[in-house]
Amino acid sequence: MLGWCACMFYFYSTRERSRNLPPVSDRPAQNGVQQVVVRKAFDGDSGRLADGREYRLVGIDTPEKGHRFADEARAYVKKMLEGRKVSLEAATEAKDRYSRILSWMWLEDGGEKRFVNEEIVRAGLAFVFKIKPNVRYIDRLIAAQRDARAAGRGVWSVPRKNVEEYYVVSIGLTHRPDCEKMIRARKKKVRCESFDEAVDAGAPPCRTCGP
Ligand SMILES: [Zn+2]
Repeated sequence: MLGWCACMFYFYSTRERSRNLPPVSDRPAQNGVQQVVVRKAFDGDSGRLADGREYRLVGIDTPEKGHRFADEARAYVKKMLEGRKVSLEAATEAKDRYSRILSWMWLEDGGEKRFVNEEIVRAGLAFVFKIKPNVRYIDRLIAAQRDARAAGRGVWSVPRKNVEEYYVVSIGLTHRPDCEKMIRARKKKVRCESFDEAVDAGAPPCRTCGP
């Protein structure tokens, strides 16, 4: 949720839904890991648990609703997670500003332990999103992103439009050099020689300039 309008909508709708829930601190996690059941995937990187709380998978950014591959990302996660018991490993920050549990998610599947955040990236249905301090598995996610790109999966199956001479990483996102949002923000800018180099720094594409 990068857009301001989307943010505000999400804030209010989340607050409404969570009004009657006990605070997260009432439910102690053992070693920062808790077993939960996923009730519903809202999109590729967030959803609701059977106990009513909401989660946000850290380290990834799936395409926003209405954008290409958003439906695929949701369908993929829905099939993998809904109704399943998973382990949530707490990120360094426990919750985001919408009170969603920030998580690295693990799924037991026939004796195999699947790392959900990583699998979504490996399927080409999310970009790596590096937000400090929640960076514990970022190197694994970047390796998965390279693998998805090399195999041409999901977002990597379509050629990039209007390729730029260079890209700019700023405010945690990858931008075209003339992105007004990036220029207006007046934050640190890092020049990258290619789109791939920029996103492999953990900066997903900006939704304003759409690189
Ligand atoms: Zn931009």
